[in-house]
Amino acid sequence: MRSGRLAILDEHGRRQKVHPAEVSGPWHRRVFALRALLIAVFVAAPLARVHGRPLLLLEIGARRFWVLGQSFNAQDAPFAFLVLSAIGFSLIVVASTLGRVWCGWACPQTVWLEGVIRPIERFFEGSALQRTRLAAAPWTLSKAARVGGKHVVMASVAMLVAHWVVSFFVPAEELFALWRGSDSAPQGVVPVLAFLFALFYGDFAWFREQTCLVLCPYGRLQGALQDRSTLLIGYDVARGEPRGKASAAGAGDCVECKRCIAVCPTGIDIRDGLQMECVGCTACIDACDDVMLKLARRKGLIHYASEESLAGGKTRYIRPRTVAYAVAAVAGLVVVALFVRRYEPFEANVLRAGGVPYAIDGATLRAPIAVHLVNKQPEATVVHVIAPSPTDGVSIQVPSPDVALAPFEGRTIPVMIQLERSRWSPGFRVHIRAHDDRSGHDRLLDIEVLGPHPRAP
Ligand code: SF4
Ligand code: SF4
Repeated sequence: MRSGRLAILDEHGRRQKVHPAEVSGPWHRRVFALRALLIAVFVAAPLARVHGRPLLLLEIGARRFWVLGQSFNAQDAPFAFLVLSAIGFSLIVVASTLGRVWCGWACPQTVWLEGVIRPIERFFEGSALQRTRLAAAPWTLSKAARVGGKHVVMASVAMLVAHWVVSFFVPAEELFALWRGSDSAPQGVVPVLAFLFALFYGDFAWFREQTCLVLCPYGRLQGALQDRSTLLIGYDVARGEPRGKASAAGAGDCVECKRCIAVCPTGIDIRDGLQMECVGCTACIDACDDVMLKLARRKGLIHYASEESLAGGKTRYIRPRTVAYAVAAVAGLVVVALFVRRYEPFEANVLRAGGVPYAIDGATLRAPIAVHLVNKQPEATVVHVIAPSPTDGVSIQVPSPDVALAPFEGRTIPVMIQLERSRWSPGFRVHIRAHDDRSGHDRLLDIEVLGPHPRAP
């Protein structure tokens, strides 16, 4: 068993650089395919359009957000909260049932580090053994060229990723304009690009697996989210022990080849039991299966299993905590769906006009209000503010009822409510309708009319 310190640290607490060996096999092919798909989605998402509108663009400065071609503004902020909550609960469900499957298969850190940066490193510096030797070798022209070439390509990837991340917040055309030197380009993004570049390059070139081991809060939460029935990557002790040569009488299936350690990107020995450093990348499954196949033994000495099943028990997939997490995630998704269904392409809100909220003129009470209209669409529209016909001594005047709004424009128009004072009582309400020409949607504004205290003379 290992001591309590991280596997990447030596006895003096110094970090030992990990040079994971290359691995191939069915799990590697599946993980590789998913990583390639995720990178393709990442590259395509900020460039893709839905009916000419951005698929995903979060223009924070303009407080305008595009999701699946639909535009939202700051008033839709609860939507972002609901979406993030639903994603958060979904990740919790995944962690409690499938352990670190997110970390090993889909987390951007693993996708870029294992899917892009390691292959670049192998291209310039060779196999794990060659890389280890190169790291220990004195500096020569050849070493400088190989290490330098690797860093130039890694820095280029970091720069590209930084641009792509920014393009989720700034339209890609504006980023292109920046590099063309156009005056209209958003100069404010330059420090952001520089910061992201430094962050990604520092991670790719130096920090690497430490992000998962010491920084990531999701990684730290795993212990609290998992239980003995959570599916993890584990070593079958009953089958593997006692370790020994393939020819040794009475030995288990583990031949102590240490291939599972050699391929591990966090440098751990999965045979020491379930460990916080395991990011669930599946590399050791393929590595060990390969050894077992060569020895004509059954695959699966290292495999997806729960602590319960590894101890000879039964994995319980449906448990109180997984049901509770799943209910919370589904509830979040349902609320998001309802919110999207209720999405309005324009906003109409009542504002109290500045100054006095009402005025008494003999037997008449006048209450001025304002209606704030916002066109949330990228096309111009006309919103009609429609007041009911005067009735029972109540009349509502809208001096400019037809309001032309440019794309994303907001305007406030005055409205005067007038009624016989004797008709007013606390909580008195009137209703106005706002109709958007372009979408055909209506909003009904429920307005409480303010008036004098009931005992006022
Ligand atoms: S790869 Fe398999 S056989 Fe080799 S040391 Fe690891 S568990 Fe044992
Ligand atoms: S122990 Fe296996 S699954 Fe876990 S990080 Fe290492 S190689 Fe990947």
